[in-house]
Amino acid sequence: MILLDSVIKKYPGDNEPALDSVSLHIEPNEFVFLVGKSGAGKSTLIKMITKEEIPDSGKIIVGGIDLDYVKKRDIPGYRRRLGVVFQDFKLLPRRTVYENVAFALEIAGMSGKEIRKTVPKVLELVDLLDQAKKFPDQLSGGQQQRVSIARSVARQPKILIADEPTANLDKLTTEEIIGLLKKINDFGTTILVTTHNENIVNTLQKRVVTLKDGKIVNDQKSHGIYELSGAKIPVRRVQTPGHALKQKRRVA
Ligand code: ADP
Repeated sequence: MILLDSVIKKYPGDNEPALDSVSLHIEPNEFVFLVGKSGAGKSTLIKMITKEEIPDSGKIIVGGIDLDYVKKRDIPGYRRRLGVVFQDFKLLPRRTVYENVAFALEIAGMSGKEIRKTVPKVLELVDLLDQAKKFPDQLSGGQQQRVSIARSVARQPKILIADEPTANLDKLTTEEIIGLLKKINDFGTTILVTTHNENIVNTLQKRVVTLKDGKIVNDQKSHGIYELSGAKIPVRRVQTPGHALKQKRRVA
């Protein structure tokens, strides 16, 4: 569960707050897209959850932990409870795919035996078992992002946060990565994704939270679509392959 209650954040030197009394409640196992124009406050909201930035006021509770009480020295440990995926992957260039995932588990204190058991399973989940010995620069962008996701989910976090995970990927690879996030969500992980990608938001029809000038201007709880103005417009049904199939069956 992620809870933000009346969160205000203004960066020093800015005239307007980056987040202006934001309240948001994300239930366990939800899949939420966070959308909004550049500068709307998406990254700041993510940084509130990862405690990279501290709010000026308001309350933030993540997975039962009140972030007010997470001391500076405990922040790395707190972050390891979350899975975080970045648009630029942040892989270790001199380590293989296997070692990138194993290293994250080592840091988290997992035993060598457990690591040897876990890494192949996670690489299988992201369909990279056959690339385990390669180095990041020998992989495509999509494969690198899958390593990054494998590393984030290896510790089985309850919450996975992805800030623009497909920003540097082409259309097909984007669909693949979103499909993978959906699979991880189906296994019971809460997912929060920021994106500019209208197509994937409209295809998935999950919850869509829209930020504008630091405020939540729209929160479509299900069948959400990409709509930056926040206007309450009727839900347009997007034809998905499953949808089309159902209709066909009905006709038959
Ligand atoms: P988004 O991720 O939606 O593009 P951000 O959260 O990055 O939005 O930015 C929200 C607002 O906060 C913008 O006006 C931006 O200029 C400002 N901002 C973000 N980071 C900083 C910072 N480190 N220092 C000052 N202002 C910042």
